[in-house]
Amino acid sequence: MTIFSKIIAGEIPSYKVAENDKFFAFLDINPVNWGHTLVVPKKEEDYIFDISDEDLGEMMVFAKKVAKGIKKAIPCRKVGVTVLGLEVPHAHIHLVPLQKEGDMDFKSKIDNPDPAKMKELAEAIASNIE
Ligand code: 5GP
Repeated sequence: MTIFSKIIAGEIPSYKVAENDKFFAFLDINPVNWGHTLVVPKKEEDYIFDISDEDLGEMMVFAKKVAKGIKKAIPCRKVGVTVLGLEVPHAHIHLVPLQKEGDMDFKSKIDNPDPAKMKELAEAIASNIE
């Protein structure tokens, strides 16, 4: 069971922003920028391009809904999309609100983000997802 599956199962706490029967979205615990959100499939798969065409399409549509919520909740020019997958072997899409290119620098993360601010951001994003 991956750490993300434990989060989805509620065994590990997370700042959840959205969920449906197949996908789950929550704030990255070490965000590169405030509002940095991860979108993961509930079905465990390591590499994103091993996901079936149908599920990958649905995952991107779910990510689009989450990104629209992020953009409404957090002032930004666009929500950037990245896939790395080098740390956690459970496919995920990074969504990061951007004002400038440097806002998505994975070498510069916010360490120990304030829990109250993370909770507030997750609730703001969640309440803006249609
Ligand atoms: P990647 O696998 O895409 O290289 O990086 C995994 C991402 O997941 C990192 O940005 C990291 O901060 C995030 N992450 C790792 N463990 C946890 C966790 O337990 N909770 C949350 N919310 N994020 C995590």
